[in-house]
Amino acid sequence: MEQTRPGQRGNNLDDVRRNNLAIVLGLAHVRGRVSRAEVTKMTGLNRSTVGGLVAELVELGLVDEREPGASSHAGRPSAIIVPREDIVAIAVNPEVDAVTIGLVSLSGQVLKRIRYDTARVPTPDEVVNIVGAVVAGMRGELDSSYRTVGVGVAVPGLVRGTDGEVVVAPHLDWHNVPFSAMLGDALGLPVVSANDASAAISAESTFGSGRGARQHIYLNGGASGIGGGIVINNELYRGLSGFAGEFGHTLVNSAGMLCHCGAHGCLETEVRQSALLAAVGLDAAESEQLESVLLAEFARQEGAEPAVLELVTRQVGFLAEALRGTVNIFNPELVILGGFLGLLYAVAPKLLESGVRGRVLMGPREDVRFARAELGLDLLMIGAAQLAFAPLLADPASITKSRLKAS
Ligand SMILES: [Zn+2]
Repeated sequence: MEQTRPGQRGNNLDDVRRNNLAIVLGLAHVRGRVSRAEVTKMTGLNRSTVGGLVAELVELGLVDEREPGASSHAGRPSAIIVPREDIVAIAVNPEVDAVTIGLVSLSGQVLKRIRYDTARVPTPDEVVNIVGAVVAGMRGELDSSYRTVGVGVAVPGLVRGTDGEVVVAPHLDWHNVPFSAMLGDALGLPVVSANDASAAISAESTFGSGRGARQHIYLNGGASGIGGGIVINNELYRGLSGFAGEFGHTLVNSAGMLCHCGAHGCLETEVRQSALLAAVGLDAAESEQLESVLLAEFARQEGAEPAVLELVTRQVGFLAEALRGTVNIFNPELVILGGFLGLLYAVAPKLLESGVRGRVLMGPREDVRFARAELGLDLLMIGAAQLAFAPLLADPASITKSRLKAS
């Protein structure tokens, strides 16, 4: 998401070279494939410098250079740089009803996604054991086919940026859990943990509907509540300790229910996935079917079931109320809705847009667009993997072939 500028950062040649390596790898990572000519054009670096940087990334085993296909342009076509598909991160997302574990390549492709349903809300130790067992099951393949950079964990809670400690994950009932350290000890790999919505916004900004939008707001709805993130000038705004973006605790109903945060009528107590599931007769384990069931309900000739229609209208109204304040305060160009909030938007787009626009000041009203998160079920896997790839992307040269160990 954050683009490093070429050339000048750093105070010696080695810093400059390392910074430039990060820029070239970052372009290949974000775009999936990029030609030498495009890198030259986008960075302003000269051709021989770019050639040297690409050669070094190939040497480090991070990218491949491929012959271009037939080109319609005159002259010799430029070689294509692609991130190596065998450089992977392990992505983990513990939730109230399941632990999802994925294998994601450096180009953002989800190669594997395994949802391990749990009978009850998992404890930190149980999540470590589940991830350990799933990774052990993949070990043969990981050793022979991949090089594992590390593990990224998207946690539905507040995670301290400095050490990855889960300060509180209310729905998991985790308090002050040094989860990165626990999982790192078990797997023998570096582990980076962050709030799930922050991870999601990083993924959507890089690979999804946030591409190209410099100011955007992201709200994600999951089984355990609503989180979000704020991107200002292409950078995620984290707040002092990484806790910013808790849109779930915006007041939307002064006569509303008591929230676990101690207030009444928060967005996440009034707008809940569990209520939608119940309204259409699904249980928590069937959340992946909610979309098709709800869309079918709204596509019916005779109209949706009144109780379902009323619930969706009510939830969309509360979501619009929360977005109204957010749009007025931040003047974003884009509001991205993920998880079941994206589903609410897909079901009732006009209701939500008019609900927000009708009550937002004229300036921000004209600027804002709405979009559903594009990455779907892969969102948190890609977001978690981005956490694990971040150190490599920031300094490719710091990770030599020997340190890129198989797990
Ligand atoms: Zn609250």
